[in-house]
Amino acid sequence: MLDWHGSGMSVMEMSHRSQRFGEILEKAMDGIRSLMHLPEDRSILFLPGGATLQFTLIPMNLMSGTRRAEYLVTGSWGEKAAKEASCYGDIAIINAAKDGKYTSVPDQDELEFDPLADYVHYTSNETIDGVEFSYDLDAAGIPVVCDASSNILSRPFDAEKYALIYAGAQKNIGPSGVTVVVIRNDLLDRIPNGLPPLFDYRNIQEHGSMPNTPNTWAIYMIGLVCDWLKEQGGVEAIAQINERKAKKLYAAIDSSDGFYRGYAAPSARSRMNVTFHLNDEALEERFCNEAEQAGLNGLRGHRTFGGIRASIYNAFPEEGVDALIEFMKEFAARNG
Ligand code: PMP
Repeated sequence: MLDWHGSGMSVMEMSHRSQRFGEILEKAMDGIRSLMHLPEDRSILFLPGGATLQFTLIPMNLMSGTRRAEYLVTGSWGEKAAKEASCYGDIAIINAAKDGKYTSVPDQDELEFDPLADYVHYTSNETIDGVEFSYDLDAAGIPVVCDASSNILSRPFDAEKYALIYAGAQKNIGPSGVTVVVIRNDLLDRIPNGLPPLFDYRNIQEHGSMPNTPNTWAIYMIGLVCDWLKEQGGVEAIAQINERKAKKLYAAIDSSDGFYRGYAAPSARSRMNVTFHLNDEALEERFCNEAEQAGLNGLRGHRTFGGIRASIYNAFPEEGVDALIEFMKEFAARNG
């Protein structure tokens, strides 16, 4: 990073128009393409603005037909995405909440979509609620758009099934400040003319993700994360590790005689964000404080949600999960 291949220049100070940076950008794109097994007709875009900006750019770019879209909402981020899209067109929400709570995902065969919708949007892993799809959604020919911010590269996705997949990089891809959008090329042709250039996927694709200066440092890091993931054996191998990590944590919850209560329905349990509750908020607060003293940080649930959330993304080591399980057993024995 400080001296790129003997050039005496840091990746962060070289021009984004230089050949050197061009190679760095290519490497990051190739890494994602090969790890996700993307078909040839998919373009990879790197954008600023986080996944949140995509909540707006997706309807702006893709609502070019009937201006109707369907949002399958299984948690807090899906709700936000639907709300933002409703500024641009007619949004039908398929709400999966039961008694006001997002704890499950519908089965594929329970779902029916409007055949004239411009697209169907869903969130493959709801980061706050801890609810994950175990299958790739099929919308019977309607373009499927997926917010995969918190489970991209954690397990195989059937890329063929998606018209657009997007993810803020900061969980499994690289540092914050860059968002990955994978788009099927035929969708680029449907984008309405006259969008502001930096909001126009076609313009961004035509400029190789560099209509202006991109986040060069984050893109460099993406290339390195892809190398690391390949060394682990790729997405298929990390998926097995993720499965093992999540399984043992849920087993610890389920075997606690109700001291810990898992939030999501077993069939929709997230392998990335394990959410659970203790009997009352005071006990949860004590759990988090004592866990912190034991070196286990970041266990407080999202500020809008409460409870406990163990986020165990690709980079989180299995030993960390083992340490958490040990702590949970010991805490339950002392407080049960
Ligand atoms: N969607 C999901 C599923 C997320 O987990 C997040 C962030 N945690 C967002 C969207 C928003 O991402 P950003 O902060 O990159 O805008």
